[in-house]
Amino acid sequence: MAQLSDDCFAFGGELLGVDAALALIDARIVPVVGDEAVKLSAAAGRILARELVARFDVPPHANSAVDGFALAHADLAPDRETILPVAGRAAAGHPLDRPAARGEAIRIFTGAPMPDGTDTVMMQEDCVIEAGRVRIKPGIKKGANRRHAGEDVTAGSVALSAGRRLKPADLGLAAALGNDSVRVFRPLRAAMLSTGDEVCEPGTTLPPGAIYDANRVMLAALLRGLGCLVSDLGICPDRAGALADTLSTAAAGHDLIVTSGGVSTGEEDHVRAAIEKLGRLDFWRLAIKPGRPVALGQLQGVPLIGLPGNPVAAALTFAILARPLILRLSGANEPPPPTYPVRAGFGYRKRTGRREYVRATLARENGGLVAHKYPKDGAGILSSIVRSDGFVILGESLSELAVGGMVEFLPFSEVFGS
Ligand code: AMP
Ligand code: MG
Repeated sequence: MAQLSDDCFAFGGELLGVDAALALIDARIVPVVGDEAVKLSAAAGRILARELVARFDVPPHANSAVDGFALAHADLAPDRETILPVAGRAAAGHPLDRPAARGEAIRIFTGAPMPDGTDTVMMQEDCVIEAGRVRIKPGIKKGANRRHAGEDVTAGSVALSAGRRLKPADLGLAAALGNDSVRVFRPLRAAMLSTGDEVCEPGTTLPPGAIYDANRVMLAALLRGLGCLVSDLGICPDRAGALADTLSTAAAGHDLIVTSGGVSTGEEDHVRAAIEKLGRLDFWRLAIKPGRPVALGQLQGVPLIGLPGNPVAAALTFAILARPLILRLSGANEPPPPTYPVRAGFGYRKRTGRREYVRATLARENGGLVAHKYPKDGAGILSSIVRSDGFVILGESLSELAVGGMVEFLPFSEVFGS
């Protein structure tokens, strides 16, 4: 339990809580993009701009769930075998061309419309088939193996709500409702840049004291995963003038600007100053660890989110703040990512008043899930994310977590997948 002693965020001053920051995003950020029609085949991951109302029932007709024999339940003897003549055939796409008469069994296959006059399907495996007749055991329930019209979607109901990010099953449902295209929001145009005189382009020779840019490619992939069209503005040096120029140019052609690094209080941190000079700063210090310096503001009306330079802090603040901001800006309307209660396989002490996110792996132990903390917790240890499964969230009021205590777990797949 060494977290308190090597704590580099231990200084005073009012920090904005995570929930307050999210509420601010909710209040200040509105969708900025128009909408367009796209073919269903190209709509995966896009955000539905208008709710999709079912114009008819799905399935459109009552149909058989199995291969067998359709019949009227009232024709069956309750306590002994019934023998019925097989008087017709209904296959998928080939309905019986007449109503079934009382006392008839109709040979039927999965997906075939239920002939009028029948209400129950006997599975072929449960029948004895003889020449022109079928012997049926007693005991089947009325309505067995029959699918009702509209049991999936009822005509007039909302099949998919506006603001939904379309998943493969959503596309299937839209297609089942006869749509070959949908109206979706235009993708957000996001500008992405790194800052730092020490930050270098991978693939080039590293000068003394420099490091390769880990953030830009990671954050650009996260942005694309949320459907953004990303302009890569490269690496900006730690010079106030250069940064201000790059940012104001970016504001002209984009719906969002994302930066990494340079948001702290150091002499070489120019992002916050640039936002203050060129636009409006909403906040720049959050009660969160890792990632305390993170700036949200607007430049010429374009939201700018300044993520911290430390790669773990950049990834975390992207997940917790940038992601909901981007979703809202893009017109998406979805609940926060779910978290799951698990047992802590570690003890931990923390400062109250801020929310901490601890990288952890999950193991199944004694029938339950236990979260084990990644051994190194520095904000620059990107391999801690590579080798973990998610974040254990330790709330603002918590000061000490005992081994075995219940904690909330946020899987990376919920926030880093898309
Ligand atoms: P900063 O937020 O600019 O003060 O940077 C904090 C730490 O993150 C420093 O150790 C930086 O060298 C490091 N850092 C900043 N930007 C990047 C980047 N793009 N990739 C990897 N590390 C970075
Ligand atoms: Mg820097």
